[in-house]
Amino acid sequence: MLQLVEAGMDIARLNFSHADHATHEKSLNTVREINKEHGTRIAILQDLQGPKIRIGDLKEDVKIKEGQIITLRSDIRVQEDDEFLPVQYNTIAKDVKVGDPILIDDGKVECVVLETNNRNLVKLQVIAGDVIMSRKGVNLPQTVITEPTITEKDFRDIEFAIKHGVEWLALSFVRSADDIKLLKELIRLKNGVSRIIAKIEKPEALRNLDEIIQVSDAIMVARGDLGVEIPMEEVPAWQKRIVKKCNLAGKPVIVATQMMESMITNKRPTRSEASDVANALVDGADAVMLSAETSTGRYPIDVVSSMNRILSSVEKEEEGIYYRNMDQLPENAEPTSSAIITTACQLAKGADAKAILAMTRSGYTANQLSRCRPKSLIFAFTNDPLLLTTLNLVWGVKPFFYDQFVSTDDTITDCQSILQEKGLIEADDVVVNTGSMPLHEHGLTNMLKISRVKAKHV
Ligand code: PEP
Repeated sequence: MLQLVEAGMDIARLNFSHADHATHEKSLNTVREINKEHGTRIAILQDLQGPKIRIGDLKEDVKIKEGQIITLRSDIRVQEDDEFLPVQYNTIAKDVKVGDPILIDDGKVECVVLETNNRNLVKLQVIAGDVIMSRKGVNLPQTVITEPTITEKDFRDIEFAIKHGVEWLALSFVRSADDIKLLKELIRLKNGVSRIIAKIEKPEALRNLDEIIQVSDAIMVARGDLGVEIPMEEVPAWQKRIVKKCNLAGKPVIVATQMMESMITNKRPTRSEASDVANALVDGADAVMLSAETSTGRYPIDVVSSMNRILSSVEKEEEGIYYRNMDQLPENAEPTSSAIITTACQLAKGADAKAILAMTRSGYTANQLSRCRPKSLIFAFTNDPLLLTTLNLVWGVKPFFYDQFVSTDDTITDCQSILQEKGLIEADDVVVNTGSMPLHEHGLTNMLKISRVKAKHV
């Protein structure tokens, strides 16, 4: 894990579609021990399984051919005979209609519904065959799923997030803003701290995208399931649309799945994978995600360092990623603080400032600075230890702890000193400061100052 961090990992995803709580707890503790020992700020992203439909446990892999008829059975979890394949979705026979497509294992097996008994059996005609293995995913892109987005398993897993103060909690197969509101309410009622990521992987989520972005703390473009739920050729344009909307709103956005797929078995990525990672960053992604490449792949450390090198190179070479969204404030944004923050980025650009130093309590100022993608470094100071790790998801933001509230002048001097001591800024550098005055009122960002860093007297 330490090698992954040293190679460039910022966030560790715990995928609750796999493994038990004890295993995830071990990974979480390892990340937090590394943070303590090495001063890193790696956040945990707990990914809830949601209503992911899966094939049950098979006696052995089943090879099926085009034209064959197979029957799914929902009232068994383990295969009993060759006639039926178990499927883990109790109401499948009620929900599907004749003619609905059913895709198994990311669309490798393609079927249509021939018949349903409205109780426990669904007969399918195979359009494209392959081998079906235990627990592979099943997608029903044109069926209205009646199962709630937050399942019984998710409720148990949410307890884990609350108990461990997980920074980011991702909800799979989100369909509407209400799914996110419900999860937020559950977390709030139990005094949880987790911020919510909506995974966009259903056509319904695309239809409700604006409302979902509005109520979520961050978004994931979950290209794996999305590419099965909608035609795969539509995924690239949706990726761009989703990322753009998130950037405008100042919500962190993750691009996920198959980014470095060939590195599951190869030591080097393909050129098209390198371009995919680079293009996600150019689109405006805050983070790019690895799945099988690091969980079961042969070269987890190499894949993270390759990805990191691609991203660093793009940030050096591609001027087009900087200074965006400065002519438009986010919808429903707090107008005065958003205007100050946007102006801070304009000022930093005009004055060729080395850094923008921001005080942030909720993370809002850090998010809003990041949405303008300034070329100046963004240093966010907060007295909330949890926010330090949470903000690691946000593009360009380097968080620091600071809890002195004497005066605005003192705060500015202190923060500059901290950065000078760490060698991140030096005498004569131009810096832009944002904060809130008067300090004791802990209000929204309303202060903007530009200064030249003074030599430090030792
Ligand atoms: C995806 O479908 O792209 C995704 C990230 O979800 P998961 O890895 O949980 O299937």
